[in-house]
Amino acid sequence: MIKQAYQYFKNGQGILTSNFAETGGFLKTDKALQRPDIQFHFVVATVKDHARDWRTSLKHGFSNHTCVLRPKSVGSVTLKSNNPTDCPIIDPNFLAHEDDVNTMLAGVKMANQILQHDLIKRYQVCSINQDQNLEDNELIDKIKTLTDSVYHPIGTCKMGLLDDPSAVVNNQLEVIGIENLRVVDASVFPNLIGGNTNAPTIMVAERCADMIKEKWLNN
Ligand SMILES: Cc1cc2nc3c(=O)[nH]c(=O)nc-3n(C[C@H](O)[C@H](O)[C@H](O)COP(=O)(O)OP(=O)(O)OC[C@H]3O[C@@H](n4cnc5c(N)ncnc54)[C@H](O)[C@@H]3O)c2cc1C
Repeated sequence: MIKQAYQYFKNGQGILTSNFAETGGFLKTDKALQRPDIQFHFVVATVKDHARDWRTSLKHGFSNHTCVLRPKSVGSVTLKSNNPTDCPIIDPNFLAHEDDVNTMLAGVKMANQILQHDLIKRYQVCSINQDQNLEDNELIDKIKTLTDSVYHPIGTCKMGLLDDPSAVVNNQLEVIGIENLRVVDASVFPNLIGGNTNAPTIMVAERCADMIKEKWLNN
């Protein structure tokens, strides 16, 4: 790695030029579904406990991570106290909904099926389901222990209709009930899109920039 780091900083070459998540995929856990419900992030490193397990991370290998695309579990952001300098309590509430657990279970099984292919198996270093004989409930326990985030939180200032009590902003991204205040970021998404959130957030921002310009020109 030291040699690779040297090569990267000197010539911009070598394995550190990888974007890390080199491959991905969108799959349906059930053929009857109209659109994919899981995403794979295939990364060129062994990642355990979000790479906090540095002994695993330093080994050569790869991992294939499974992500539930439209989770039904809803998290929360609440105040810790009435002291404004205290951090809020952010609870993603992962896998609280049974459907999310079942989708994740099916997705992990599909990922494992790929990892068990002869062409890949010989490189494999670690897998959530190394022991092929795990019962579903054992696999679910493992999933619940090992699952973490791919950082796509949204919806804390949801866009919605005026009669929706959970809506914070209207379709112009104006905060309902407060004049001259908009929220323009990923928090306005009413639901998760089926994929990564960066590009849609930029789209929301560009669209709202036009709305702001239009309002300013008309006044
Ligand atoms: C580690 C990580 C990896 C990710 N990878 C991907 C990916 O590969 N692909 C993808 O599509 N999405 C990815 N995402 C998700 C994507 O980055 C977010 O969905 C997107 O950035 C959300 O944009 P945003 O404008 O809502 O928030 P942010 O991008 O978080 O912007 C918020 C901004 O507000 C600023 N800010 C915060 N508080 C204050 C304050 N009090 N005063 C002034 N400024 C403040 C912050 O500094 C920040 O610049 C990733 C997220 C993370 C955390």
